[in-house]
Amino acid sequence: MEQLKHLKLPYEFYIFHNLNLFIESNIQIDILIITPHYIMIFEVKNIKGTIEFRQNPSQLVRTLNTGETHTFNSPESQLQEYVYQIQQLSQEIGFKIPVYGAIVFSFASSYIKEPTTKTKVLLRNEIRSFLREVKVSQRILSSEELGDLSRFLLVKHHDFNPYPLCKYYDIHPSDLKSGVECPLCDVIGMKRVYRNWFCPNCGAQNNVSHEQALRDYAILISSTITNKECRSFLNLADRNQAFRILTAFNKTGTYRNAKYELIKQPIRK
Ligand SMILES: [Zn+2]
Repeated sequence: MEQLKHLKLPYEFYIFHNLNLFIESNIQIDILIITPHYIMIFEVKNIKGTIEFRQNPSQLVRTLNTGETHTFNSPESQLQEYVYQIQQLSQEIGFKIPVYGAIVFSFASSYIKEPTTKTKVLLRNEIRSFLREVKVSQRILSSEELGDLSRFLLVKHHDFNPYPLCKYYDIHPSDLKSGVECPLCDVIGMKRVYRNWFCPNCGAQNNVSHEQALRDYAILISSTITNKECRSFLNLADRNQAFRILTAFNKTGTYRNAKYELIKQPIRK
């Protein structure tokens, strides 16, 4: 996530994106930040429209401008589960560190009509100030322990990795529908116009829809992507469009051999 790229905090930290772990069950954490003082989990939601958190049972209901409503699984329950399992894991390995979590809505236009009181909810532009305001006192983990925890998580991530799913389920990538899905009407086939995505079906526009498509690519096909593969998967017109999107990712190799890492290794700050 762009907001975290140049983040600075007054202490060292590691950021993991799309971390897959098996603790009590399979969990996939969108963003996990480990610091000497606390662990933070961000559950990222790419949902537009007017959003209501309903309780008992917990559900997320989204209403579009058209009046159409969609119901989603509650990100609250999911986040609570992740926080619990990460707490279990850190206790198991002997670290008594607080684990916090927040739900992040990635579209600035999401309108949270009925927020939840149980969980912190953020828009993506609030992430940095939210992290800066986390109260910390004495450090709990030494630099060495933090490094150990980071390596431990990475090994656990690699040990449990059912991805890419195409390989796991024996599906040929060419059988998948390529293209970018519209977060408003769910139709696949958004068009890249300058630096934005435009939906020919409902007219929606944004500049982040490729992020979800590339997360899907990492889960379905491969954790790395070339410029050509990106053009074909996102239905882009030329290599410059793909290039501009891919600069957000770590690159290995040069020229024709260049590959971009969609599942990021933890970045040491
Ligand atoms: Zn649309």
